[in-house]
Formats: sequence, C-alpha cells, structure tokens
Amino acid sequence: MSLRRSIYKSPAQLRAMVEPGLITAAALDAARALIAPGVTTGELDAAASALITARGAKSNFQMVRGYRHTICASVNEQVVHGIPGDRVLEPGDIVSIDAGAEFKGWNGDSAFTVVLDDPSRPEVVAARRQLSDVTEGSLWAGIASLVTAKHLGEVGAAVQGHIEANAPDGGYGILREYVGHGIGRKMHEAPSVFNYRVSDPGPEVRPGLVLAIEPMVVIGDQATFIEDDGWTVSTTDGTAGSHWEHSVAVHDGGIWVLTAPDGGAAGLAPFGVTPVEIV
Ligand code: MG
Ligand code: MG
Repeated sequence: MSLRRSIYKSPAQLRAMVEPGLITAAALDAARALIAPGVTTGELDAAASALITARGAKSNFQMVRGYRHTICASVNEQVVHGIPGDRVLEPGDIVSIDAGAEFKGWNGDSAFTVVLDDPSRPEVVAARRQLSDVTEGSLWAGIASLVTAKHLGEVGAAVQGHIEANAPDGGYGILREYVGHGIGRKMHEAPSVFNYRVSDPGPEVRPGLVLAIEPMVVIGDQATFIEDDGWTVSTTDGTAGSHWEHSVAVHDGGIWVLTAPDGGAAGLAPFGVTPVEIV
C-alpha cells in the first residue's frame, strides 16, 4: 500500500507555507547584507542561522543527513553545496548562497548569487554578472511559465529557453545532475523540476503545486565533480557558476513566490505576470 502524499497541497497547507518562505527570505537577506571582501562564508552562515533562530524556525539544511550548516556558500567554480567556513571572500568573487527554514513543520528553500566588485578585473566581473543575471532571469522565466503551463515540463523548457536566448556566444552550461523539487512538509519532495527540456511532460500544473525551482548555470561546460569534502559541486573546467532559487506556489487565484517578500512582483514584471496573494 502506498502512503505517498499527493504532490498537490490544500489551500490551508499553502497558507502554512507563507511564513517559512518569508523566514527563508529574511535569512538570505541577513547573509546578503554581510557579503563583502574580507568576510568569511562562516560569518554569512552565522548571520542566517541567528535570523532563523530568532524567528522561531529551524534550519532545514541542518536536518539533511551529515550536513551541519545553515547555508551553502559556493564561490567561483563552486556551483552548489559549498560548505561555509574559513574561506575569506575576495574582490571579483561570484558567491551563491542557498538556505531554507522550517517553521511549524513546513519548509522554504531559496538561493541567490552576488558578484563582488573588482576594479582590477572588469571583464571577469562583467562576465560573472552576466552569468548571474541570465541565471536569475531563467528562474523568473520558469516561475512565470507556471501561469500558463499545463505540465511541469514546460517550466524546464522556459528556463532553458531563457538561458539560450540570453547567454553570450558559445552559450552557457546547465547542470544536468542537480534539479529543483517539490517542497512542503519536507524540503525535498516529488516531483523533480528540471532546468532543461525533457521528453516526459511531467505532472499537471494545477492549484496546490509547490515547487523549488533552481537553475544552476555555468560559464563553460556543464560537467561537474564533487570535491574531497564530499559536498561541494565544482565545474570540471574551472569556470564560474551561478545558482538562483525560489519556492513558488500555484493556487486557485494564480501564483505566489513564497520566498520573495513581494510574492515575486518585481521579478515577474518583465514577463507580464502579477503574483496573487494566497488568502
Ligand atoms: Mg536550496
Ligand atoms: Mg532546493
């Protein structure tokens, strides 16, 4: 007998996911506010951790087996799952921060990328900023596609389409081994959310679907390896990576980005989409 949960949540369950989403956003803001040359990734972790605790929530990353930290901090050729610690941020670094909060048994999950300024390497900084901008844009394209998508596969097509249309000559690599996911009682739930076109149309997009969409994009080839720490995912060719993520709910009235305080209004505006609050 299968006890598997439906991937579609009730209106009451969607409402319960608003607060963990906002706490996740605030935790990321706390880390973002500190990002500067000379700061360690461990200090960013401490700031996010303190915020989550102060809001009466728990770090859901610390509930991942074997992981002891609140954030992942991935720098330069590291794309995702970088471990925070003594590493000191330097001018020109591209830094992706990922975090999530569990509040009253419901989860949020979100990530962003920042590129530190470096006047001595303007071309490097510009290329990394373009990578981050295109990756963020592909996230919003994927989120916006939920308004009209019949099936989940259309989200991956929208993400990949945005990257292909906006990457510089030569294109970007999209990680294939790591994908987005459903989110709810657990941080990682079915279904998988691909950041690229797949032949399977996937499950229906309809009210109750809550997804963590998270494109992971690199300047060079998509091939990655796991570093000796057992976690950090880095590009094989050493080129820089970017990771952006939001948790988003499809509900009766429309879509709402749970991990954005404005519900995603600013990010969705270029796509002509207005988020609708969950009531
Ligand atoms: Mg995440
Ligand atoms: Mg995630």
